[in-house]
Formats: sequence, structure tokens, C-alpha cells
Amino acid sequence: MYDFYSDTKSKPTRAMLEAMIAAEVGDEQKGEDPTTNALCERVADELGQEAAVFLPSGTMCNEIAIRVHCRPGDEVISDQTSHIINFEGGGPAALSGVVLKGLPGERGIFSPDDVKAAVRPPNRYAPRSRLVSVEQTANLGGGKVWPQHDMATVVTAAHDAGLLTHMDGARLFNACVKAGVSARAYTSQFDSCWVDFTKGLGAPVGAVLAGSRGFIGEAWRFKQQWGGAMRQSGVIAAACLYALDHHVDRLADDHGLAATIGTHLQGLPKVESVLPVETNIVIFDIAAGGPTGQGLVDTLEKDGIVIGAFAERRVRIVTHIGVGEDAGRDLCAGLSRHLG
Ligand SMILES: *Cc1c(COP(=O)(O)O)cnc(C)c1O
Repeated sequence: MYDFYSDTKSKPTRAMLEAMIAAEVGDEQKGEDPTTNALCERVADELGQEAAVFLPSGTMCNEIAIRVHCRPGDEVISDQTSHIINFEGGGPAALSGVVLKGLPGERGIFSPDDVKAAVRPPNRYAPRSRLVSVEQTANLGGGKVWPQHDMATVVTAAHDAGLLTHMDGARLFNACVKAGVSARAYTSQFDSCWVDFTKGLGAPVGAVLAGSRGFIGEAWRFKQQWGGAMRQSGVIAAACLYALDHHVDRLADDHGLAATIGTHLQGLPKVESVLPVETNIVIFDIAAGGPTGQGLVDTLEKDGIVIGAFAERRVRIVTHIGVGEDAGRDLCAGLSRHLG
């Protein structure tokens, strides 16, 4: 089976597992796990922030950040396609009592003017606009990279309006590798930001949330309260450190394979359109004469290839460390058979 459903399907390599076995460990929630501490220091440094905390998932990073930044009745502004609006089970409402406002961005990217227009007047009738969140890269935008300048102007617009800023950096390093920009250059102006280790970086568990010392102190309250505080988490933190050393530069290979798949799709008669491929995500629409998205998914699965349907005719393919050139050739041959 070749699994292109998501980069979350990547599995730890043998060398990563060896790094996990060799990890020095202690009680994480007492601050005694040296490997987790090293990971947090390293990520805080790479993201240009004062401090960081290790969490079990990216979703918990988003949810804790919203909880720390906001009070019930506050409003969080993000693109309408964002993960926090669509894929976290209504967590911001359930856990923080906030209202979410989705902006009609362009493939997940919005502008400073969009932010200014969304900010509510400060009166007691309106929810209090509190936080602007951006996603780097924009998943449903087809893995689109926020250009550094656009992101900086959005952060400035939010701060000028008295709002806080948060980056969902589930695939931040894909953006860094694609654009040749350091992580810090994207993240240092944000009030909070995080990176996921279970996407393209190929670790089995873990995400790190970063921010000011005060912010991370508060984040720890909710990590404890929501059951995210751990014990000998060095075993998994070691996989994350290994990924930072060995799996960042290779993201360029994933981007190359995704570009090849995107170009191949563009030449197929039953493909309506392909979103421009920038990183490791390929999103395309099947033309009216072709199968439905789910139909294509089901037939390809019989050929031993897994992809995902996102809407009636919209399909997503994601490249990662577990699918190399051979997998890409098989996928392209299957796509030709069913969409040719
Ligand atoms: C995967 C993802 C998340 C959530 O991360 P998990 O580690 O799966 O909880 C958040 N935001 C984006 C953009 C993602 O792709």
C-alpha cells in the first residue's frame, strides 16, 4: 500500500526509532525530562520565542493558545478554511467559549485590510475581537505558503488594532524549505506559534507550542488541566529532535514529487483543475465526465493506493517521507487509468 492520504501517515524510520531508544528520560511534568527540555529550548530558539512547551498534538497547541489568549465571548479571526474552524470539533467554542470569524481569503491567505474590516468596534454589543490566527502552510489552500511580507503586514494590522496573533505552523518547515526563509523570520512577531512533528517531519507523536515566558506559564496550566502533561516523554521528544536534524531539508523531495504529480494531473482529460502546487499538498477537482472523488478513492484503493476525497469532486494527495518516486510512479499510472 502507498498512502498519500496525509503526511500524518508517515512512520518513524529505523534511525528515528534508535534515537528514541537512546533517549535520556525523566518526569516531564516535573521539568525533569532532559530530552523534552532540550526539544523545547531548541524550538523556542528556532521560532524566535522565549519559551516553549511540548504537547501531544497540534490540535492541543491551537486549543491551549486560544484558551490562554481569550476570554469567553471573545472572537477569533482566521481564514474560513482554517483547521481551528473546520477540524477541531468546535473546540474553541467548547473549551474557550469564543466566537470564530472565518475570512474569505485567497487559498487560505488573507490581507491586512481583511483583518481591519473584521475587527469589531469596541462596544459592549459586539464580541471582543481578540486574536488573529494564520496557518502556515494553508492546508485547504493546497499547501500554499504565506509570503513573509504578507504575513508580517497581517501581524502588524492585528497588533495595531490591539489584537493578539497566533500561527498554526503544522507545516511551517515546508514553507521554510520552499521559500528559503528561516522559521524565525516567519514566527518571531507572533504572540504564539507552534510546529507539528507528526506531519512531514515524520515523528510518531508531538507538537511544540512557543511564546513568551508568561504565555507558556499559562499554557502549562491548561496542559495540566486538560491531561496533556506527560511523564517520560523524552522517548517521543527524541523522535522530534531527530526529525529537526534529519527530516527538514528532505521536505524538498516531497515538494518535488508533489509538483510532478500536479503536472501529471494537469495533462489528464478528466481533471477539471489543479490548485498550484507549492509544497507537499496536491488538491484537484475532477471534471463532470469523471468519477466522483470518493469513486476515485475507492478504485485506487483496490490498486493499493490511498488518497483522500474532500468534497464531491475535490481530491487531496499529500507526499511525505513514506512515499518515494516508485510510489509516485504507481500513483500517476493509477490516475492515468481512471482519469485518462
Ligand atoms: C494536522 C493539522 C493540525 C492539527 O495537528 P494534530 O497534530 O493532527 O492535532 C492543525 N492545523 C493544521 C493546518 C493541520 O494540518
